[in-house]
Amino acid sequence: MGKPTGFKEYERKAEPYRDPAVRLVDFKEIYTAHDESHLRTQGARCMDCGVPFCQSNNGCPVYNLIPEWNDLVYNGRWREALDRLHKTNNFPEFTGRVCPAPCEGACVLGITNPAVTIKNIECAIIDRGFDEGWVTPRIPAESTGRKIAIIGSGPCGLAAAEQLNSAGHSVTVYERADRLGGLLMYGIPNMKLDKGVVERRVQLMRDAGVEFIVNADVGKDIDPAQLIASNDAVLLATGATKARDLPIPGRDAKGVYLAMDFLTANTKSLLDSGLEDGSYISARDKNVIVIGGGDTGTDCIGTSLRHGCKSLVNFELLPKPPQDRAANNPWPLWPRIYRVDYGHAEAAQRFGDDPRVYSIMSKEFLKDDEGNLTGIITVNVDEAFKEIPGSEQRWEADLILLSMGFLQPEHYINEALGMEIDERGNFRANKSDYRTSVPGVYAAADCRRGQDLVVRAINEGREAAREIDRDLMGNTQLP
Ligand SMILES: Cc1cc2nc3c(=O)[nH]c(=O)nc-3n(C[C@H](O)[C@H](O)[C@H](O)COP(=O)(O)OP(=O)(O)OC[C@H]3O[C@@H](n4cnc5c(N)ncnc54)[C@H](O)[C@@H]3O)c2cc1C
Ligand code: SF4
Repeated sequence: MGKPTGFKEYERKAEPYRDPAVRLVDFKEIYTAHDESHLRTQGARCMDCGVPFCQSNNGCPVYNLIPEWNDLVYNGRWREALDRLHKTNNFPEFTGRVCPAPCEGACVLGITNPAVTIKNIECAIIDRGFDEGWVTPRIPAESTGRKIAIIGSGPCGLAAAEQLNSAGHSVTVYERADRLGGLLMYGIPNMKLDKGVVERRVQLMRDAGVEFIVNADVGKDIDPAQLIASNDAVLLATGATKARDLPIPGRDAKGVYLAMDFLTANTKSLLDSGLEDGSYISARDKNVIVIGGGDTGTDCIGTSLRHGCKSLVNFELLPKPPQDRAANNPWPLWPRIYRVDYGHAEAAQRFGDDPRVYSIMSKEFLKDDEGNLTGIITVNVDEAFKEIPGSEQRWEADLILLSMGFLQPEHYINEALGMEIDERGNFRANKSDYRTSVPGVYAAADCRRGQDLVVRAINEGREAAREIDRDLMGNTQLP
């Protein structure tokens, strides 16, 4: 344990983001540089509890050894902290930036005081590891001669590829996009996760022997049956890419887009040309409405602001969450409370107010004679989503972004293979062995469970790798 009285002496202080007024004019990461002495003080707040809930089922989904590395950081033993961190998490530089940190919601200190800043410490350990040159390719000692194809290069596919490669298997990752990383690349925007951070990790994996093939759409360009025939195992890590739409009158208005079309085109254009090629949906000088919250909604807000939108409103169907945990949401559950994410703070900076409007339901998109979007009609709803009479409102809008979540994976691979899906339309496979109904084919993360978190995708990628290794070799050393 770091400092027995640390939690009494020091207050929680998360690392600040860059000033919203400054960061709003660029797509660089929102984070500030790590300060070692500050992080050591924060690490000292960890109480090394008898039962550390932060690394339990309610806490960190990859079971990071949090109290151990808090202690090591407090004592300045960064190299050992990095080794501990890599034992459980292949990509702490991703989770240290984008994870909502369920560990902090389950931190025992959080019962009476603000939780330890676990996520900041995780990020600082891995960033220091890269700065010092401590992070190197995990080259396997010997080859098993087994071949594995992984379809999809999101956090699940990448984690599984790294684990299986380290066990000596020959791994090829097929990705239909032109760049690798799944939603780490073309979902989460650059200001939240710099794409150089994703490419740096992919390069390490290449150096360790993983083969990557981009622009390879399995089920369209490549026959999945052929992949099964030419490999010892195939892992589906294709994500939950089918978005929930809003089929109300006027949906065909020019100016209504799915959030992912907006975000993907923006990042691609940013990386290809610094937004010079104009191949993206611009929010510049537009009245923008984002329908739906969550990370995707926030990312649409942050991106629209950086384009220079004229106004911005964010509709939320749910009521405003409470400031503190409700009685039915006790510790160590994830706290469902009111939070101000980076995009909300930026909108307040630009327009003077939080952009969110709660308990509001969209009824009809409005368009002019040429079919261009001009606005939207809404009604207010009560907690049971019942419309409140007389609450109809008309909003002006030239760009509306739909960010209402994702339904399931696309279905062309399972249809080609005659593979079973479950009642929610996900690829049917259970969490104990990740096997689908087709022999030799496995499925993990968002395509198996529905869209979730990066850290859960890493967890399922690791677990699926372990089960594939066990099936191929008869036993496994993978964690
Ligand atoms: C905008 C947005 C922001 C988010 N922000 C956060 C966040 O801040 N924190 C967080 O924890 N989570 C966040 N999430 C959720 C998180 O990104 C996902 O849960 C996670 O990426 C899922 O990982 P995955 O590997 O299962 O799938 P994905 O990351 O979706 O990757 C699947 C990959 O498979 C590829 N693919 C699909 N079909 C084929 C095919 N037939 N052939 C070849 N390739 C194929 C796709 O192109 C894609 O690259 C966000 C999601 C979105 C949409
Ligand atoms: S991966 Fe997420 S839950 Fe786990 S320690 Fe890091 S921030 Fe916490």
